[in-house]
Amino acid sequence: MQDYRPLAPPNRRSRRRNTLHDFTLAELEDWVAERGQPRYRARQLFHWAYRQLVLDYEAMTVLPKAMRQELAAALPITGLAEIRRRVADDGDTVKFLFRTQDDHFVETVLMFYPDRTTVCVSCQIGCAVGCSFCATGLSGLIRNLSAGEMVSQVVHAARVARERERRLSNVVVMGMGEPFQNYDEVMRFVAIVNDRNGLGIGARHITLSTAGMVPFIDRLAEEPYQVKLAVSLHAPSDGLRSQLVPLNRRWPVGELLAACRRYVAKTGRRVTFEYVLIEGLNDDEKTAAELARKLRGLLCHVNLIPYNPTPAAPLYRRPSPERIERFRAVLEHYGIPATVRYSRGVEIAAACGQLRAEEEARRGRRTLVAVER
Ligand code: SAH
Ligand code: SF4
Repeated sequence: MQDYRPLAPPNRRSRRRNTLHDFTLAELEDWVAERGQPRYRARQLFHWAYRQLVLDYEAMTVLPKAMRQELAAALPITGLAEIRRRVADDGDTVKFLFRTQDDHFVETVLMFYPDRTTVCVSCQIGCAVGCSFCATGLSGLIRNLSAGEMVSQVVHAARVARERERRLSNVVVMGMGEPFQNYDEVMRFVAIVNDRNGLGIGARHITLSTAGMVPFIDRLAEEPYQVKLAVSLHAPSDGLRSQLVPLNRRWPVGELLAACRRYVAKTGRRVTFEYVLIEGLNDDEKTAAELARKLRGLLCHVNLIPYNPTPAAPLYRRPSPERIERFRAVLEHYGIPATVRYSRGVEIAAACGQLRAEEEARRGRRTLVAVER
């Protein structure tokens, strides 16, 4: 108790740094020092927040009681409250719905595999890109999530993993939103979850998925973190891709693939291409051959994702298993490695944006409207 002095009121100037989960360890050291506390208190806080996965200061018994109370008043640990949880695939998929401090909804999915445990994190509320097949894009962008709101998703998931005696091993930023439209907060998030003093998730176990914002692919290649890059391609030609991913008009396929080649040359790391298969649109053999031609010589892997029906595109259909396999076989024939990835938790609306859409509808909000196409 001797070294305890009351904490000063929190710094409210920055809306983004208003929870413990927003701080890097170095910033937390400065923060406690500014409040007259020894710097080692920051390490203790970090340890309890990310090794013990505590969401309540009262459980941080290593801290003086008065300090715990001051912290609780000054700096909430998380900005997210879990309001719904759904389980599918015999417990191997857990979907969370969180409420933010300003009363929006965020989705997160935890997936157990035999060899790894992965959390799929959202980085925005809604999305401005508006891909034709995606439920998240329907609402447009409401706001970016802070790094802390992303970290909180990982901590909540890690707690549930721990209940099953599993350690969270992988993070994919493939939930709601476009990570490269929230670049700085996403990189801050990477720094926090990567820190060995905390969650210690290796950068190579963190994947960022982009709809194809070319300048940020180049920027990512310069970062010290060796995170993995996934690019949502969905079509090999501009006419088709612009129909599916509107930002293709700004950064067409040729420019996007050139950026991917630069990324591989610079980092030596493989790029994953995501390709949502939609019946009769982008799933025929000719398109597969064209895709293979465009990817020739590029260090990459293609993830084929059979379309998951959403209200976003009621007329789109998932291709038959035979057509999906045929598409994969054509890519393989041309030497492009490809895997079919069925979305987990289809029966619990795990396609991103769907649980949130349901909750918004339940509350009578009209931010999400299914459009007829
Ligand atoms: N905005 C980023 C990351 C989030 S979307 C991006 O687009 O890459 C993550 C992945 O889910 C993307 O590859 C996206 O194309 C895919 N996806 C979105 N809606 C889908 C649906 N209805 N069925 C199958 N995959 C979908
Ligand atoms: Fe946004 Fe990705 Fe959905 Fe496209 S697929 S609308 S970029 S979240």
